[in-house]
Amino acid sequence: MANHKTLDDLFGQGPLTGKHVLVRADLNVPVNEAGDVSDATRLERLLPTLKDLSAKGAKIGILSHFGRPKGERKPEMSLKPIAAALSDLLGSPVSFAEDCIGLAAGDALSALSDGGIVVLENTRFHPGEEKNDKEFAEAVAANAEIYVNDAFSAAHRAHGSTEGIAHLLPAFAGRAMEQELDALGKALGEPERPVVAIVGGAKISTKLDLLGNLVAKVDALVIGGGMANTFLAAQGVNVGKSLCEHDLADTAREIMGKADAAGCTIILPTDAVVAAEFKAHAASQTVPIDAVPEDQMILDVGTDTLATLAGHFETAKTVVWNGPLGAFEVEPFNVGTDTAARHVAMLTKMGTMVSVAGGGDTVAALNGAGAADDFSYVSTAGGAFLEWLEGKTLPGVAALENG
Ligand code: AMP
Repeated sequence: MANHKTLDDLFGQGPLTGKHVLVRADLNVPVNEAGDVSDATRLERLLPTLKDLSAKGAKIGILSHFGRPKGERKPEMSLKPIAAALSDLLGSPVSFAEDCIGLAAGDALSALSDGGIVVLENTRFHPGEEKNDKEFAEAVAANAEIYVNDAFSAAHRAHGSTEGIAHLLPAFAGRAMEQELDALGKALGEPERPVVAIVGGAKISTKLDLLGNLVAKVDALVIGGGMANTFLAAQGVNVGKSLCEHDLADTAREIMGKADAAGCTIILPTDAVVAAEFKAHAASQTVPIDAVPEDQMILDVGTDTLATLAGHFETAKTVVWNGPLGAFEVEPFNVGTDTAARHVAMLTKMGTMVSVAGGGDTVAALNGAGAADDFSYVSTAGGAFLEWLEGKTLPGVAALENG
């Protein structure tokens, strides 16, 4: 399916010693008030590409955005501290260049010893980056012979360093990009069936495209979280004080109709954990879905629902997950999400299914459940993962495939 070239293709084309290779990474990592990287997951995922290129003797320039400087040079959005954090992780020096184009970048690359790495300053300091301006992409490309994109999380944006440049230099997918594309292909491209998708979270208004795409592709769609309330209300269930987008009842019915036509079973909660307030350890009870008290709100799925889900998980060959089944940040409304996540993790570990999760709060929810490590793949790509779930073409990936 995928026809992008990988690092193995690049390595098969001859020696890389001394060649200038630009790696588009996502160094846009969270930084705390003290200026330290508070979650280095994205940096860690970049290491295999850097180590492999370095071992082949390439001179590596890392391209990335950081924050939203909107085309201006803003010192507080410099990548310099991230270069230091990357150096610590790699256990070898990483230098820094004050610009991603021109002599500053070119000289810094030339000055590297074979296998050396330099982080080039924030691509978004140039307005041409977000405009995908050809001249900007040409200026970046002028300093190198090869382009590697290892930033799936930035691939939904057609920017100079993610899309434009891929048409100007021989372009390859890095290790992390390759791994992400493989995992996503297994989940929705050519998945083993039955495929069960779980979509939770607060509102359906933010996930309409996603639901529309999934019902056409999966065998069963579990809808949980606040968004299930809108579907339940559309079927005439009284959801009391629950979060609910009553104005989207028609939309919910349309999605159910589309699912029916596509042979996709929609699974809604049959019972719920309800409470009078959205507060940690609020007095709560589990009630059948048609018995939600008028003055209470649904904050999690109940045990009957979890038993139904367990049955679907036992036979599923593929599970795709986005969004929590309840208000997971607040105990005890994490129980539904945690129980289902641990079950999927266990079955994945036993080898009965492939499980792929990602987007927004999902990573936090699976980490909280202690389940993330046993999923086949957990994407930290956020917006790019959601756009992929929506069935959209990601420009950064498409540009690699044409290359
Ligand atoms: P999203 O960003 O759309 O994935 O939504 C995640 C948010 O949905 C989390 O903050 C959850 O607390 C919230 N959420 C999930 N289920 C419910 C519910 N039944 N009622 C209110 N909020 C919920």
